[in-house]
Amino acid sequence: MNKVKTTVIGSYPVNVENMEIMNGYFNQTMVSWDKYIKFAVNDMVESGIEMISDGQTRDLFVNIFTRKLKGCRIRDRTEIIDKVEYDGPITVEDQKFVRTLIPKDKQLIGLITGPFTLTRSSVDLFYNDEKELAFDFANALKQEAQLLQKHVDMISIDEPFFSMDLPEYGKDLIKTITKDLSCPTRLHVCGDVSKIVSDVLDMPVDILSHEFKASPKLFDAFKQHNITKNICLGSVRSDNSRVESVDEIVEHINKGIDVFGDKISQIAPDCGQRMLLRDAALQKLKNLVKAGEEVYG
Ligand SMILES: [Zn+2]
Repeated sequence: MNKVKTTVIGSYPVNVENMEIMNGYFNQTMVSWDKYIKFAVNDMVESGIEMISDGQTRDLFVNIFTRKLKGCRIRDRTEIIDKVEYDGPITVEDQKFVRTLIPKDKQLIGLITGPFTLTRSSVDLFYNDEKELAFDFANALKQEAQLLQKHVDMISIDEPFFSMDLPEYGKDLIKTITKDLSCPTRLHVCGDVSKIVSDVLDMPVDILSHEFKASPKLFDAFKQHNITKNICLGSVRSDNSRVESVDEIVEHINKGIDVFGDKISQIAPDCGQRMLLRDAALQKLKNLVKAGEEVYG
């Protein structure tokens, strides 16, 4: 059996100092994001997590991408005002920076916010055709993923909107991004996926990530299927700052093993941790690592 890795979904709490934003605004200087990326990365390293992310501290998970794609402008939400096209690297520099911060035995996740989620999070003032917009996002993200894979150990695509409304072309959107990648890939869909289990099992990725801690009913939903993918088992909640004890997490992982056996390849929080207090986020990761050691040794 491959070793089960402790990892994260992506985002981490960020506490940008208001003075820095004010100074940036009045003096036209840039906020020094490196400092905030370091906070997130150092916490993940300190917790013992094996496969870490940059914490997505720079921006909201939609805006990180739409801010740097042609055809998008950021207002209250992202507005689509022209054809969406790739305009050069989006997250690559941050990932290269993170690589310089982490010990050699740690692995790094590249994070891609999925094309359907970008589409549903935007106000379309140009296409008037949701599918066409979604595929233009997918083609742009494919180019980002191609560059990113040289610098990371896995690419994770985050598509929370699939749990609310999976389009019939959902699989093709993901395939557009993953088909020419040579690194391992993961699809994260939080929310209730109990009605689309057979669809997610059919997605062209190596690992599926869902929030099994907040939605234990997902265990029953997956039990009805032949598990053909590796699983990233959500094991601590991301919507609630109560820190789960090590024993509670061990019990949860064992429930997961009853359903998935050795198909579990990663254990992680349910979702990004951005909305948590930083202390709670860190302690949850520490307890997750301890629980992982207890179960998998
Ligand atoms: Zn999520």
